[in-house]
Amino acid sequence: MTTLHSSTETLKLNNGATIPQVGLGTWRSPDDEGYNAVKSALKDGYRHIDTAKAYGNEEVVGRAVRDFIKESGVPRSEIFVTTKLWCTDFKDPVKAVKGSLVRLGLDYVDLLLMHWPLPMPEGEGKFPTNPDGSRKLIKFDEWNYLDTYRAMQKLVELKLTKAIGISNFNIPKIEAVLNDKDIHIAPAALQVELHPYLPQDELLAYCKKHGIVVEAYSPLGSAGAPLLKEKVLVDIAEKYGATPATIAVSWGVQRGSVILPKSVNPQRIAANLKIVTLSEEDMDAVNSIQKTTHKRLIDPDWGVNVFDTDYKFQKVE
Ligand code: NDP
Repeated sequence: MTTLHSSTETLKLNNGATIPQVGLGTWRSPDDEGYNAVKSALKDGYRHIDTAKAYGNEEVVGRAVRDFIKESGVPRSEIFVTTKLWCTDFKDPVKAVKGSLVRLGLDYVDLLLMHWPLPMPEGEGKFPTNPDGSRKLIKFDEWNYLDTYRAMQKLVELKLTKAIGISNFNIPKIEAVLNDKDIHIAPAALQVELHPYLPQDELLAYCKKHGIVVEAYSPLGSAGAPLLKEKVLVDIAEKYGATPATIAVSWGVQRGSVILPKSVNPQRIAANLKIVTLSEEDMDAVNSIQKTTHKRLIDPDWGVNVFDTDYKFQKVE
């Protein structure tokens, strides 16, 4: 039986930087709740915070990071901050990231991810109204995720971010990035939905081969943490005197990915940093969950199916 310990495990990115394997997710962590969650996590020992322009909380996340640095003396260089480029900002990543940095109150982020490989019309708001009044994505071929990734390279040159990466990309789309003759900075990380219902074995193997760190989002099953009721996790947790969340996080760490559990509850934030070393047998048991339940939980209705490998950008007349 191994003992619970706070995770200090890190992985190496392709820019030479280290990234803590357990980071705090901040989607649906607004205002004071978001501020307190980030502050509490940093006090507990988290050194990795994941935010995004689309979460609408860069201001509170940044303020919590800055206040923690001031109060603790922990240097900025020891805290890994990620933010993401939203789909309506695809044509000018430099302008967009400068905006994120102003809201965060930081000079740079450690990782800037393209949030989805989906250009949306420019404009205010997360989902611009389309000419047909729908919230569905306008497909257009004047610009695509490769154009955006090419432009994101400038962010590293300008030292606005230390690393660039992608999110919600499937293998053919990653391959397109890696094979593009105008792309010379390979993605440092890929953030995707990953948990025992969607273990992403193929993506993990592919990214390992190409030196891309995989970051697991919604590792507890997203809102309400439905995964934590899964009997296999509950039974294993009991064996280790741990919680199902600890088993889910430990499984992710042991498979070599970054894990981003979100919580705004101080006890759960503290608990989610704790991991145990799972036996091979228990790893196998968690790996087998997908044989009975295999599902994707985040599949937004506003998008075309971005995981569809045949998707082509088309102009809407
Ligand atoms: P998670 O899988 O992290 O689950 C969050 C839910 O679990 C919340 O309802 C939370 O409630 C609850 N919870 C947290 N800890 C525990 C615990 N120990 N026991 C019981 N319940 C718990 O969901 P997310 O979808 O938020 O994913 C995590 C992060 O990944 C996001 O916050 C975001 O940073 C990132 N993400 C990125 C996406 C992308 O497109 N790149 C998409 C989705 C997420 P409570 O807060 O009340 O504790």
